[in-house]
Amino acid sequence: TSATPIVQLSQVEKHYQGVHALKGLDLDIHQGEILGLFGHNGAGKTTTIKLILGLIEATKGQVRVFGEDPTLSEARTSRRQLGFLQENVAFYDQLTGLEVLSYFAKLKSVPKSQCRALLEQVGLSHAENRRVKTYSKGMRQRLGLAQALLGDPKLLLLDEPTVGLDPIATQDFYQRLEQLKARGCTIILCSHVLPGVEKYIDRALIMGRGSLLAEGDLHDLRDKANLPMTLRLDG
Ligand code: ATP
Repeated sequence: TSATPIVQLSQVEKHYQGVHALKGLDLDIHQGEILGLFGHNGAGKTTTIKLILGLIEATKGQVRVFGEDPTLSEARTSRRQLGFLQENVAFYDQLTGLEVLSYFAKLKSVPKSQCRALLEQVGLSHAENRRVKTYSKGMRQRLGLAQALLGDPKLLLLDEPTVGLDPIATQDFYQRLEQLKARGCTIILCSHVLPGVEKYIDRALIMGRGSLLAEGDLHDLRDKANLPMTLRLDG
């Protein structure tokens, strides 16, 4: 981990009409860690991700990503360095995996030559010329991961990336995240479920109703707070 956090949220509040989604969130994320952001629906996880992506502005407080305010149009570093994946990504079913990835490569002005290497990295080389409609859920999510990795981002934001995947596909997905981490990638993983993820998380933040309930090692947190394998926090 480096001294300067690559993501820094200081006393961040976010109000939507009448809803206080975040109530003074402090968060430092260091290079090379896999951070788990946990909490039940409505805890503020997606809001946190959107702030880091620069899609929304904080009502109060400060957000810095690679030292920049990510909402500014000139925040090029932070935009180039971010990869984003959500659950159940929709793709053009009639395109092949390689065509889908090539399309996103064009949008991102990334050389097409990266596509095959990324498909290889996510274990989809054998299916690159098959149409996406023949892909399993796990394969689709790995294609989504390849898409998020176009341009070699230093920070990956994953919002419920393994929802609907079977346990084997889920483990496979997390093992690929470990490989990315070994290459220096920083990963923020958002989820409302814990099964299968504990061993891949370096640090966990448990959110409830817009603030941090607990932070630290996931095993300790679960023991201390007596957290079940599936989080049901009503904080
Ligand atoms: P989920 O897993 O359901 O996405 P979450 O932890 O990601 O939950 P957020 O999506 O950040 O939570 O939502 C936090 C609160 O803000 C919720 O009460 C939600 O209803 C509200 N909220 C989120 N987006 C908006 C919006 N665009 N307008 C109004 N309220 C919103």
